[in-house]
Amino acid sequence: MMGLMQQHSLLISGLIEFAARFHGDTEIVSRRVEGDRHRSNWAQVRRRAMRLAHGLDAWGVERGERVATLAWNGYRHLELYYGVSGSGRVLHTVNPRLHPDQIAWIVNHAQDRVLAFDMSFAPIIQAVAPQCPGVRRWVALCDAEALPAELERAVPGLLSYEAWLAEQSDAPYAWPALDESEASSMCYTSGTTGNPKAVLYSHRSTVLHAMAAALPDVTGLSARDAVLPVVPMFHVNAWGVPYTAAMVGAKVVFPGPALDGASLFELMDQEDVSYSAGVPTVWLGLLARMQQEGRRPRSLARVLIGGSAAPMAMIQAFQDTWGVEVRHAWGMTEMSPLGTACAFKTKHASLDAQQRLQLQTSQGRPLYGVDMRIVDAAGAEVAWDGRSIGELQVRGPWVLADYYQSGQPSPLRDGWFPTGDVVSIDPDGYMRIVDRSKDVIKSGGEWISSIDIENVAMSHPAVAMAACVAVPHPKWDERPLLVVVRKPGAEVEARELLAFYEGKVAKWWIPDDVQFVEAIPLGATGKILKTRLREQLLELRTQA
Ligand code: AMP
Repeated sequence: MMGLMQQHSLLISGLIEFAARFHGDTEIVSRRVEGDRHRSNWAQVRRRAMRLAHGLDAWGVERGERVATLAWNGYRHLELYYGVSGSGRVLHTVNPRLHPDQIAWIVNHAQDRVLAFDMSFAPIIQAVAPQCPGVRRWVALCDAEALPAELERAVPGLLSYEAWLAEQSDAPYAWPALDESEASSMCYTSGTTGNPKAVLYSHRSTVLHAMAAALPDVTGLSARDAVLPVVPMFHVNAWGVPYTAAMVGAKVVFPGPALDGASLFELMDQEDVSYSAGVPTVWLGLLARMQQEGRRPRSLARVLIGGSAAPMAMIQAFQDTWGVEVRHAWGMTEMSPLGTACAFKTKHASLDAQQRLQLQTSQGRPLYGVDMRIVDAAGAEVAWDGRSIGELQVRGPWVLADYYQSGQPSPLRDGWFPTGDVVSIDPDGYMRIVDRSKDVIKSGGEWISSIDIENVAMSHPAVAMAACVAVPHPKWDERPLLVVVRKPGAEVEARELLAFYEGKVAKWWIPDDVQFVEAIPLGATGKILKTRLREQLLELRTQA
């Protein structure tokens, strides 16, 4: 017997309609590329997203065709999120931190028809435009007067976003009644080998992910929050914040290009930001600023840390020093991205402070909707005992089924997506990432977690950043080498750092050596680029 309830598609247009109707005057604040602070609200976002949709109709951009963005977090980018996907086109967010050749490759692979960009990326556009003949319109996200004549000459079909929107009708746009499984947006994974691969999200996967992300044990966002996504809208849809915020009617504060600690602190403080989300490297900057100011941004209550492992010292600094609650989360581009979040259960109230902190260094338990298993090299399931490790596989309604036109067979195995992360899971479902399978260090047939080694180093007061990589060893195959950037003015030598490990990890896990460097290379999404680091170390060691 079938249920007798209404059938409504889960569509992105439904999110902006909801936010505009019930939270229309809730603010959207943006620090702009222009340098000033801009104020809008959910009603305005809908109004301008509708103009944009009229504009795409006028250009004849077909349903399902791709409209790309190369933009920071800001209100215009948000309008594109809703105007493009809401009207049935596919929003392709391109990561501007990639090399221009890679950007051109991605734009051509996705067959983008329109590309909208922030003016800070004008030099990239000048470089890639001649290589991207399929792009019919280039839209500069600025006022008409701000468009330099030389850029107009260099990029045929270029116009300013504001001039374009001004030409459009203010009449309400009838959002199309799409099938909820139609594509809504796409994002390329930052592959370290080979060409990037495209993940193609659907309206349904996006709305369900936003709903799960809003749950109390995940982000717990509400209409009383002001959320600042530090995580870029060009990287997995800013972890879904633009959608979740609309779903709950939260105020959104966009940082634009100013992601340093001082700028973030000032914006959070002045806009009463209560919640923020980002990768550990950005929090290092904010924590340093909080230290200088001797306080936290006045309303900051919760932060989500993900993308890379949150070091214990960082969780401790937020919580114990500044009273800001940390939620450690794990996800992937292929998972929209959220897969797990670390929130306590009732039984954890009896743990002591150190045990609670230790639990928070795990990546947490699955969100409703995400199913997990761990398998060994032979594909057999591994026990959830908190000790046995293997590769994590996932499935669920916002997990990838296949890459877009990769030319390869689907990566799924028996319907499960292999994550490439090596993990353990405890009997309560808390997952701990040991490593990416390609970063794990294999010493004498046993595995050493580079993440654990890095976490210990990060808790040393003289260490600003640490990375641990495998170096070949004649007897043990591989041994860990610790690479460290010292804090400005701090002094610490290798011997002292290695002694610091005594009693904190198994003796044979202690790195063989420490290499001090000026900087550790970060990838396009703010994560340590271990492939590049290994190359740099090789260069250093050959020079020495
Ligand atoms: P991306 O698709 O670029 O977002 O990268 C996804 C990968 O980032 C995952 O497969 C993990 O290896 C890593 N990652 C994400 N969140 C965490 C976390 N909290 N701790 C450790 N690694 C993480």
